[in-house]
Amino acid sequence: MTQANDTKPDYALVIHGGAGTITRDKLTPELEADIRATLNSALATGQNILAGGGTAVDAITATIQVLENSPHFNAGKGAVFTAEGKNEMDSSIMDGSDLNAGAVSGVSNVKNPITLARSVMEKSVHVMLQGHGAEQFADEQGIERAEDAYFYTDYRWGQLQDAKAKQQGPILDHDGKKHSSVEEITGGDYKFGTVGAVARDKNGNLAAGTSTGGMTNKSHGRVGDAPIIGAGTYANNASCAVSATGHGEYFIRATVARNICALMEYAGLSLDEASKRIVKDELVKMGGDGGIIAVDKDGNTAMPFNTPGMFRGRVTNLMDAEVAIYED
Ligand code: ASP
Repeated sequence: MTQANDTKPDYALVIHGGAGTITRDKLTPELEADIRATLNSALATGQNILAGGGTAVDAITATIQVLENSPHFNAGKGAVFTAEGKNEMDSSIMDGSDLNAGAVSGVSNVKNPITLARSVMEKSVHVMLQGHGAEQFADEQGIERAEDAYFYTDYRWGQLQDAKAKQQGPILDHDGKKHSSVEEITGGDYKFGTVGAVARDKNGNLAAGTSTGGMTNKSHGRVGDAPIIGAGTYANNASCAVSATGHGEYFIRATVARNICALMEYAGLSLDEASKRIVKDELVKMGGDGGIIAVDKDGNTAMPFNTPGMFRGRVTNLMDAEVAIYED
């Protein structure tokens, strides 16, 4: 979906809550309503800041915190589990006005990883901190920590058990047929739920941020695209701001977020053309499932994905907030 308007919006905000095999039969009406309500409340939080003249960086930080605090998404509370049954989270943020950026990878027991990424951007001389060093920095900065129990959900724990069962070789369904994975039987997908936000504020500044627990059953120490500037997150006032979700290994190799901005800046493509080219052509050729959200310097927005669904939403001063899940 792109918005082609003669009048440029003063501000724009786009969010995602992950892409994957999200089909109507996978969500109960109650769960779907709950997820839509959370997406709407995240949009309202960011919109409030942008409408009041706040910065794009402030808007996306507050918006992502709402999504991290919800158990429905794979970020903060509700993050997926590693093969060892731990939560190791990744997050990053970028300010398009000065190309400053901050990122953390493999952090545990940090309530809002996006807050920590922002602190790395603003309070350290580095761009990325990982693991214990990042957690130590969180304590030095007085950033809120939380116990393991805070992050735990039965749903994500069940996904880990399913993923482990899949590794045991062929499994039988209730009709006695052999399958190589639980996913094959359930159509399940263990990777959706990452969250992200991009915004353009009234001063024309862009910002992007992403936060995730990564992928279920990942190896201890695995880092995805979300904390990698240029892969999962990128923002530059000269072109656009992008946050990605999907199979991180492919998004890293395709340098997704930066490539979309570069296609606009160097090749003169529109936001719609650039984002579709990467998500629907390049990633599909490589086999990389997922999607992105983006906003450009004129406030145009894009939310392409190559999976059956992507939790997403957007709002500008020219349109009411809209939230969507499936292709249609
Ligand atoms: N991109 C994330 C990762 O690979 C996962 C996701 O977006 O669902 O860690």
